[in-house]
Amino acid sequence: MLQNSNKKRIAIFGSTGSIGTQALDVIEANPHLFTAEVLTANSNDQLLIEQALKFQPNIVVIGDERKYNKVKEALASTDIKVFTGEQALEDVAALDCYDMMLAAIVGFAGLKPTLKAVQAGKPIGLANKETLVVAGDIIMQEAIKYRVPMIPVDSEHSAIFQCLVGETRNKIEKIILTASGGPFLGRKPNFLVNVKRDHALHHPNWNMGAKISIDSATLMNKGLEMIEAKWLFDLHHSQISVVVHPQSIIHSMVQFEDGSIKAQMGLPDMKLPIQYAMAFPHRIRNNFPRYDFMRPDTLNFEEPDIKTFRNLYLAQIALEKGGNLPCVMNAANEIAVYAFLRNRIGFLDMTDLIERTMEKITFIEKPGLDDYFESDADARNFAASLIKL
Ligand code: NDP
Repeated sequence: MLQNSNKKRIAIFGSTGSIGTQALDVIEANPHLFTAEVLTANSNDQLLIEQALKFQPNIVVIGDERKYNKVKEALASTDIKVFTGEQALEDVAALDCYDMMLAAIVGFAGLKPTLKAVQAGKPIGLANKETLVVAGDIIMQEAIKYRVPMIPVDSEHSAIFQCLVGETRNKIEKIILTASGGPFLGRKPNFLVNVKRDHALHHPNWNMGAKISIDSATLMNKGLEMIEAKWLFDLHHSQISVVVHPQSIIHSMVQFEDGSIKAQMGLPDMKLPIQYAMAFPHRIRNNFPRYDFMRPDTLNFEEPDIKTFRNLYLAQIALEKGGNLPCVMNAANEIAVYAFLRNRIGFLDMTDLIERTMEKITFIEKPGLDDYFESDADARNFAASLIKL
């Protein structure tokens, strides 16, 4: 077990989100193991204040500068330091006051603070998959340079990570990412064309933030995960496959070169991969419900329908072609999801927007960090112009 006297100080970037709040649940359940040292939010000042008063972190950051005074005043009677703005997120990520960053900001916004934490030598519990989708080569090179463990929080990647423990010398033949299929599994375009925001937000197995819920409904999430897996586990694209498994009991699998397959299983609950990442290399006892093999749900597996859910097809192209294409795709997807959530475009329009942006933005085979930032901005501007955002 972890030493009680040596509590791990966790910096939760994105503490007000779905992953962030569940990470705080894990800290609350294990006060002898963890403290919340840094909490950050973008605009949810109210929840950030509540969290700060409850967990008494050293630092909070509110991204939206208009909310600074309110947070500062609410915490005036405490010792908690309050910062604001995008730059503050990076500056705090570079501080030496914490032991592990839980990277739980959603989207491209998570990239810079995560990169700063890596360069400060901080172990990362990585939920923010977009960081690796955008600039996986640079992040992983820096992680190697600064000897930083990147421990996945995404349930599929946590599963693969867990399957690989003790297997460092053994070659991976392929990994098999499982996909629930989302709320529209089996549906065809004539149905999807009429899908509305609230329907798409309702995932059958997982309760998640809005952006990833839409990504799950379009299967873009699985595409982002394929790219995330490439960088995390240093794989060739031909070694990454996807199988639809609607029950989400097997969280993913690794097939080794002798044909043996290891799977990690359990009931779907993000607290498990979150606490695994926070406590690694230890496991923590908990009272989460267990999967019961005596009362089994049938476990089904099928091919993903990439003709209908073309976002997954587009992500596979981005994965294979590499360069700045995953970054461009990610940016267009963020704009598409933003517009869909505001009822500005339809469900299937998201794919068109992403595809047109991927075709338009200049391909760069070996981008540097600045190229990624520029590609992201160009793709966002172009995608937004297409729908007059
Ligand atoms: P949420 O939308 O629920 O939360 C996002 C968090 O990021 C909030 O704290 C939000 O603050 C903050 N945030 C949003 N935009 C910015 C910004 N521009 N600058 C700084 N902070 C910002 O997302 P999730 O928790 O669902 O997802 C977080 C990440 O984890 C995503 O990358 C997702 O793909 C990944 N992930 C999530 C899973 C899940 O079950 N939810 C599963 C696997 C991976 P505020 O509340 O103030 O807006």
